[in-house]
Amino acid sequence: MKGKIGLEEHFAIEETLGDSERYFPKDVWPKFSARIKDLMEIRLEEMDNGGMDMMILSLNSPAIQTIHDPVRAVEVAKKANDVMAEAIAKNDKRFKGFAALPMQDIDAAIKEMHRAVKDLGCVGVLVNGYSQIGDQESYKYLDDPIYEPFWAEVEKLDTPFYLHPRDMMPGNASIVEGHPWLFGAAWTFGVETATHTLRLLCSGLFDRHPNLKFILGHLGETLPFCIWRTDARMARERRGAPAKRPLYEYMSENFWFTTSGQFRTPALWNTMMEFSSSKILFATDFPFEEVSVACEWFDQCSISDTDKYLIGRKNSIDLFKLTDL
Ligand code: ZN
Repeated sequence: MKGKIGLEEHFAIEETLGDSERYFPKDVWPKFSARIKDLMEIRLEEMDNGGMDMMILSLNSPAIQTIHDPVRAVEVAKKANDVMAEAIAKNDKRFKGFAALPMQDIDAAIKEMHRAVKDLGCVGVLVNGYSQIGDQESYKYLDDPIYEPFWAEVEKLDTPFYLHPRDMMPGNASIVEGHPWLFGAAWTFGVETATHTLRLLCSGLFDRHPNLKFILGHLGETLPFCIWRTDARMARERRGAPAKRPLYEYMSENFWFTTSGQFRTPALWNTMMEFSSSKILFATDFPFEEVSVACEWFDQCSISDTDKYLIGRKNSIDLFKLTDL
């Protein structure tokens, strides 16, 4: 299918490049780093070859979220958003962007979100999980009450929010101790991000802000498969969870799911059957995944042409109000 729009498509600036290096063997790194830094030829060629019209760009992970000094976090977020805006300005039919936000300083994060959306033309914001604040050992998840003004502003601005994975804090990762191959995209990204999402769902966030538009990658980080069990158990043992409704209902109303890094048709069917094809959006996870692999899988996967058009293109146009397409 031609005209696909992808929305988990990363880039890096010098200040954040090192965060991705640990996931790659030394011999692969030079080629990878050239691809993630590129915001022009390499990327456009891969898009053209795969039939992708547009990438909605976002910074790599954890990037801003791991910069525990709030002043520095603000500086690097602004720089990343400026670099991205420059690339978008040069190719505005091929690129849009999610803003990176310094969640270490809520007022600054709100200010940067406004600047990114209103002045730079970003179509959403993307945050890489919890943020370290003050020192490397201290961190906050997004259900913390300090973030209440931020969520109110996201809802008011009506800008989609993408919760992107990062790895768990070393102190929370003892379950995979001695099993380093399970870190990152192989397993722990999903566990960390699904758990973070459940914290938000249970916190009552979507009762307080019923118009939030929340995006999860990787076909929902396993939640579409698991949420019935969580709801069924919580219906019997509430244990003081503040959320007023079954979690499935918030996921049906407030959530969108992307195909990033999950190029598996039965997993796609499961997400479609739980939440409908109108809530799923194509994404590759470039350059951590190959655009060619994502596009070839999607183009041939066994879903109807109508669903392919919705997931590959139309849902993104509607969610991000891409009126110039
Ligand atoms: Zn990603």
